[in-house]
Amino acid sequence: MTQVIQVDPDQPDAQAIAQAAAIIHKGGLVAFPTETVYGLGADAMSEQAVRRIFAAKGRPADNPLIVHISNRAMLDLVAADVSDQAEALIDRYWPGPLTLVLKRKPEVAASVSAGLPTVAVRMPNNPIALALIRAAATPIAAPSANRSGRPSPTSAAHVLADLAGRIEMILDGGATNIGIESTVLDMTGRVPVILRPGWITEEQIAAVVGAVERAASLQELQRSPGTRYRHYSPRARVVLVEQATLDLLERMCNEYLKSETVGFIGHTPPAIDDEKFRALILRNEPADYAARLYAALREMDEGGASVIVIEGIADAGEGAAVMDRLRRAASETIRD
Ligand code: AMP
Ligand code: MG
Repeated sequence: MTQVIQVDPDQPDAQAIAQAAAIIHKGGLVAFPTETVYGLGADAMSEQAVRRIFAAKGRPADNPLIVHISNRAMLDLVAADVSDQAEALIDRYWPGPLTLVLKRKPEVAASVSAGLPTVAVRMPNNPIALALIRAAATPIAAPSANRSGRPSPTSAAHVLADLAGRIEMILDGGATNIGIESTVLDMTGRVPVILRPGWITEEQIAAVVGAVERAASLQELQRSPGTRYRHYSPRARVVLVEQATLDLLERMCNEYLKSETVGFIGHTPPAIDDEKFRALILRNEPADYAARLYAALREMDEGGASVIVIEGIADAGEGAAVMDRLRRAASETIRD
C-alpha cells in the first residue's frame, strides 16, 4: 500500500515529515515534491535502500542517481574536492535546480553512482523536500518518481499512476513549479561541462564560472549515462515540429487524422474540428512549456491519442532545456 499525505508546502506539517523520515530511516521509499519534478527518495548511504529505487522504477543499474541535501555541511558526507568554482555556484544557485557532479566519497551507496567515481548532488528549493532531508538527517538519493522511460511526474497523481503499491509513501505538495529536471553540471574536469540542460542556463553558469562547455560528444555523454536512454515518453508516438507554421501544423494533423487519433500540444492551435482531435494550448514561453509539458503528455495518453504533434519553441536560454526534453520524447523530428 502506498500512503498519500497532503502537505502544505508553505508550512510542512511536522508529524507528516517525521513519518516520512522514519520510512527513509528504515530503508523505505518516499516520493516528495521538489521545485523541478517529484523525486523518489531513499537513504543515499544505504545500499539496500538505494537498490529499492532501481527496482521500483525499473531503472537500468548503469543510470546513476542525484543525491539531495538540505545544507552545505551535508555535501561533505558525499563529495570530496569541492573546488572554488563549485563553491561559487553553490553560493549563487543553491537551493535550486542545479546539480553538481563531484568526486564521490566512499560512504555513498555504490549503486547511487552506478560504478562511476563521481556523485551528482543538489539542494532542492522546496520546503517539503528540505524538511524531509533535515528530519531524516541523511542525504537522500532521489531520481524522478516515474517508471523508467515515462514522463517525469509533476504532481502526486502522476507518481501514484506510475508507482502505486511499489513505494511506502507520497508527500503531496501540489504541482511542482518548474516542471522539468535540474541542470546537471560536471565539475570534475578543467572546465565545467553541462551534461543535461535545465532551468539554470548556460549563461547563468558562465556568469559565475566564466567558461562552460556543453556535452556534445558521445564520450562526454557516457559520463551522464541517463542521457543515453529514451526518456519522457508517453505511450503515443511523439512528432516534434521544430519551426512550425499554422499551415504545416494543420496539414500534418489532418494527414494523421485520416487513420489516427491525434493530440496537439503547442502555441499555434490548428483550426480542426474532429472528434479524433484534441489540442492543448500552451503559451509560447519556456516557463509555460516546462510547467505543463509532462502533464500534457500524460493527458494525451489518457485521451487515447495514438500520435502527439508537439510544436517547438526557441532553442535559447531556458528554452534550451525544454527543447532537449522535447527532442528526447520525440520519435520523429520535423525541421521546416
Ligand atoms: P533523474 O534524477 O531521473 O532526473 O536522473 C538523474 C540524471 O543525472 C541522469 O541523467 C544521470 O545520468 C545524471 N547523473 C547522476 N549521477 C551522475 C554522475 N555521477 N555523473 C554524471 N551524471 C550523473
Ligand atoms: Mg528521470
